[in-house]
Amino acid sequence: MTQAASVVSAKDLCLTYQAGDAPVQALTNVNLEVRKGDFVSFIGPSGCGKTTFLRVIADLERKTSGEITVNGMTPEEARKARAYGYVFQAPALYPWRTIEKNIALPLEIMGYASADQKKRIADALDLVNLTGFEKKFPWQLSGGMQQRASIARALAFDADLLLMDEPFGALDEIVRDHLNEELLKLWARTNKTICFVTHSIPEAVYLSTKIVVMSPRPGRVTDIIDSPLPKERPLDIRETPEFLEIAHRVREGLRAGHSYEH
Ligand code: ADP
Ligand code: MG
Repeated sequence: MTQAASVVSAKDLCLTYQAGDAPVQALTNVNLEVRKGDFVSFIGPSGCGKTTFLRVIADLERKTSGEITVNGMTPEEARKARAYGYVFQAPALYPWRTIEKNIALPLEIMGYASADQKKRIADALDLVNLTGFEKKFPWQLSGGMQQRASIARALAFDADLLLMDEPFGALDEIVRDHLNEELLKLWARTNKTICFVTHSIPEAVYLSTKIVVMSPRPGRVTDIIDSPLPKERPLDIRETPEFLEIAHRVREGLRAGHSYEH
């Protein structure tokens, strides 16, 4: 079996924020390979560098040292090639724009022709099961639907890589379960590569092919777990011994990272 292409490759990646008089080591010596079609979750307590890592991939922050490539390019080149879609923690939809106009905004900025925009919006809404809600305003949608709309906005460029920063963190568990299932289906259907930040152990284990356990002060990777779970995952897979075993390993990794501080 040939190995899938490298999508994100980090070697001894470090990022130190020079804030005030105390520099913050947000990422220290991160080594990670994300390959095409992977679903990679980043889990760890606040301040361990999860958002920073996504921001480096997206060229919103610059590394201090080490190497990082995105689709074999520098993050800057990847950004210019529109290599990824970014989903933020809050839906960040403009309340005065309808759902379709929200999804259109980045396409307008990038200068897509109007017919192309329409097709991309329709396809993206279909992927997140929001067809029929084009003309609604964000406030007319539930929290889960708003978050799906913001995923549709990230999907509209049809980039192969999706960066998702705690997209379901603010939602209740039932809605989150449903969106987890939907996201897995979307991932299986589109063969996209997903980098997903979460605080939730079950969410990380349920979704991922690879789980990156991180820890703060300094921000670093403490464990990388390749999941043996099959790609087809009904929700009740969460009660199987295999699932619980991975969850246990994640929990141990988080605990080990924590004791480091004391
Ligand atoms: P996480 O997403 O895991 O909660 P972040 O990547 O947001 O962590 O932050 C990692 C560390 O870097 C934290 O200590 C945070 O306070 C610090 N940090 C994040 N952004 C900045 C910034 N722009 N300037 C200074 N420090 C920052
Ligand atoms: Mg964060």
